[in-house]
Amino acid sequence: MSSATKQLTKAARIILVGAPGVGKGTQTERLLTRFPQLASISSGDILRDNVRRKTPLGLKAEAVMQSGNLVPDSMMLDLISSEFKSKGWLSNTPPSSQRTTPISPNASFILDGFPRTVAQAGSLDKIVPVNFVVHLLTPPSVILSRIGSRWVHEPSGRVYNTGFNAPKAPGKDDVTGEPLTQRQDDSIDTWKQRLQKFEETSKDLLEHYGRQGCLWRVEGDSSDEISPKLFAEIERKFC
Ligand code: ATP
Ligand code: MG
Repeated sequence: MSSATKQLTKAARIILVGAPGVGKGTQTERLLTRFPQLASISSGDILRDNVRRKTPLGLKAEAVMQSGNLVPDSMMLDLISSEFKSKGWLSNTPPSSQRTTPISPNASFILDGFPRTVAQAGSLDKIVPVNFVVHLLTPPSVILSRIGSRWVHEPSGRVYNTGFNAPKAPGKDDVTGEPLTQRQDDSIDTWKQRLQKFEETSKDLLEHYGRQGCLWRVEGDSSDEISPKLFAEIERKFC
């Protein structure tokens, strides 16, 4: 796999769907490096940031996340649309107008962790339709075996795994040198609950995008196996 960066010639609006711990965050980071025109939003990172800052939303979300359940759709929509607005992807049209319109039809992005439910997908369709849905597949037994070795740099959301994607210095973020931590919801029991939630909600979500004809599946036991296939498909579709 070459490390050269690539130019997109068409707008890519990508979402990543996959079980908890499948490597959505890792693939997102790699895609941002490979395709510098992409920007990303991670719903989990935004939520964790709200929890850390003890915002009203963070205070409501904390217990839900800790139990491995999903934050209510209405809360997620507010969060994502304000993130879109702050990135300049949506105009601040008054609520009286029928629909929000994208400012920049050429904006290319990756959403990691949103939408998670059909209701969220339906709402997103109305504001910024996506054109590439990646279903990341890794056997749950493999994910389970590596979940305990996952370390994160909370402020940036950068993810490491001491098994296959270790930081350059143990316990330290490669970019800032700040300490890495483990996610509270990465305990085995909470992870199992998150997996069950994923299995409950993802079937309808994937069917929704299957009907739109933009769904693509990629399998692998590790992020390193998946990345080259994902790069190749994005180059084929958007470069
Ligand atoms: P991973 O980060 O390992 O791929 P994940 O998908 O379970 O796993 P995050 O995306 O970081 O983890 O989400 C963490 C938690 O935040 C979820 O368990 C859920 O409670 C909440 N959450 C994140 N995104 C959404 C969403 N779109 N809708 C509802 N809840 C969400
Ligand atoms: Mg994540």
